[in-house]
Formats: sequence, structure tokens, C-alpha cells
Amino acid sequence: MKIVYTDNNATTKVADEVIEEMLPYFGELYGNPSSMHTFGDKVDKKLKQARQRVADLINADPDEIVFTSCGTESDNSAIFSAINAFPEKKHIITSKVEHPAINKLYQHLQETKGYEVTFVPVDEKGLLDLDLLYDSMTDNTAIVSLMWANNETGVMFPIEDIAKKAGEKGILFHTDAVQAAGKISIDVKKCGVTMLSLSGHKIHAPKGVGVLYIKKGFKFSPYLIGGHQEKGRRGGTENTVSIIGLGKACELARENLSVMNTKVRELRDYLQKGILEAIPGSSVNGDLEQRLPNTLSIGFDAVEGESILLMLDRDGICASSGSACTSGSLEPSHVLMAMKVPFKSAHGSIRFSLSHYNTKEEMDIIITTLVPVIQTLRDMSPFWKDGKVI
Ligand code: PLP
Repeated sequence: MKIVYTDNNATTKVADEVIEEMLPYFGELYGNPSSMHTFGDKVDKKLKQARQRVADLINADPDEIVFTSCGTESDNSAIFSAINAFPEKKHIITSKVEHPAINKLYQHLQETKGYEVTFVPVDEKGLLDLDLLYDSMTDNTAIVSLMWANNETGVMFPIEDIAKKAGEKGILFHTDAVQAAGKISIDVKKCGVTMLSLSGHKIHAPKGVGVLYIKKGFKFSPYLIGGHQEKGRRGGTENTVSIIGLGKACELARENLSVMNTKVRELRDYLQKGILEAIPGSSVNGDLEQRLPNTLSIGFDAVEGESILLMLDRDGICASSGSACTSGSLEPSHVLMAMKVPFKSAHGSIRFSLSHYNTKEEMDIIITTLVPVIQTLRDMSPFWKDGKVI
């Protein structure tokens, strides 16, 4: 069965070019980049190239790049470093729709370390309440951390404006750009963030490698304390093979940015239009403009997202739902709940997230498969009668 993979915000296929770049370093070139000998130095040189390639994707300097094990580690390291830098400041800010890598950490700091946390709300389109955000920034705020783009809806926050405001108030600003990287242009010099997180497996590199950009001048305190690797900012022998793959993936992502904003955007819009026209009682979650070009979160009235996913999976279509199975009850995700997406469609929300590997034929397969799937589920639904929700 042909797989139609539209779950790229969950993870991406490792690009063939990336695998090719990595292979020699799995095999004969296994040296430690910290070694003094020429054999290790060969790997060190390749690591330097990877650092440069990552830096080029976000217009950073190579020595502002620290390699980590994943986006989650980058996010955690940024926040811990900020609160270490200002131990007297006991207030931290984020939004209600962050990934658990930030959301859960903030809850942890609130519950166990006595931090006062402002979780800034969003409106029904997923856009941030900027007045509340700016009003909540005080002299007691250690850090503001906001995602650049939401993993479920693709909705983007105005990170450049927020970073500027935080800068004016002398507050550290971190952005989780795990979903934004490789999909929109990022220029850290222009936007002025203090720290920024990336993850390899969202941009066609392997899983288990991430990046923390740390602006020159910020006195970063390491989260992993150990050897002198990463200029003392992250102890532990580098995951050389994956970092080399990530470097290549960043180079490809830079080349493919225009494809993301033309071909991939057109495919997403084609899929969105096709579904909305073919299936009554369907609606897009999130702002239509301030949105990543590859993401479509769409709710279907009176059906369960998990049932849709299972039926699509039977036909080889990979997507994801906006629900989280918590203690036996299926609740809409915290993102859809924060947006106050109506109950009737929040439960039946599906996320399709595309990459440049997708085709128009695949979008047609999704649309033609989805129509009978939704019809079948609505025929069984107690909430659907005579072509509408009851
Ligand atoms: N932040 C966002 C917005 C994400 O979507 C993800 C992963 O889905 C992460 C952080 C965590 O990244 P990783 O899986 O590399 O830890």
C-alpha cells in the first residue's frame, strides 16, 4: 500500500542527501572531534561545516550555535539558563498554546520552585493577546518564551515585534522555532531574540539532534555540565553523525524555503479548499494568514478525530488529531481548548502537515478518502442528523 505521509509536524523523512552525507561518519570516519590526532580532526572539520550550515539557516554566527539532543533539551536549557542568570526574578511568561517542552516546564517551575507564571491567552484564531503580554512584562520577569509557530495549527506569533518589546524592557526572550525553522525565513540578527530552539527531525534530519542559538554576549549557564564540548555550553561528546546530517538538512532547508512558500503552500491550500467544498460541517482551525505554509488543522462536526485517523490509516494516510487521550477520556488538545474551538468540531479535528515530498495526487487521494470516512462516521454519530449537527 502506498503511504501518503502528511504528518510532517510530527516528524519528517530523512532526506536522501542527508543520509548520504552521514554515511561515512557511521563507518570509517568514527573519530572523536575533540581528539588531537588527524583522524579526529577530520570529524571536527565536518562538525565546523555543519555548525556553519546551521548558522546560515538563521543568519547566526557559528559560535552562537550549540548542538543539543532535541528541541526539548534546547527549550529546557534556555529557560533554566535564564532563571539562573536572574535568580532574584521570580516571574516568567509564556502562552497557553506552547508545546509541552515549554508548557510542562513552566508548570513544573510554578509548582516546585514558586515561580509566578503568566500563560498569555490566545483568541479564537490562535493569535496572542499582545496587550496582555506587554502589560505582564515587569522588572521581575526573568524570561519570556513564545513559540514562533504552533505545531497543531501552524499559527505564527509576531516574534520580531515581541522580541523588540522584550529587548526595550531589558527582558530575555526565547523562541521555540522548532516548527518555524525551514518553513519561514528566520534572521536572528534582525529579530533580536536572546535564544532560539530548533530540532533536526522536523527538517529532514535524523531524530535526536537539536540546536540552541545563544546570542553573543548572553552569559549562558549550561544545563548539561561536563566536558568542554560546545565551548563549555553543553557537556557530552557530540552526536557527530546526526549533527553532520543536520548541517546538510539546514543547507537543503535554505534552498527549499521558496518551494515551501510556493509549491507546499499551494498544495496545502488545494487540500483545504477541496475538503471544505466536499465536506459540509468542516472548518479550519487558526488564522488563515498568520499560518505556516505547510499546516492545515481542520475540524469536522459531530465526529471523533481518533476514528477519522484510524480510518485514514487503513488507507495508508498518515495525519494526526488535535486530541490527547488522557486517563481514558478523549479531550481536545490544550491548543484547541485555549482557542475555544467549539466542542462540536474540536473533537473531530485533524492536522495535515505537508512537506515538499507531497504531491497533488496525494491531496486528491486524501480528499476522496475523507469524504466517505466522514459520511460513515456521521451515519453512526448521535450528534449528526439530516445533514447537520444536532
Ligand atoms: N517544540 C515544538 C513546537 C514542537 O513541535 C516539538 C516537537 O513536536 C518540540 C518542541 C520538541 O522537539 P523534540 O521532539 O526534538 O524534542
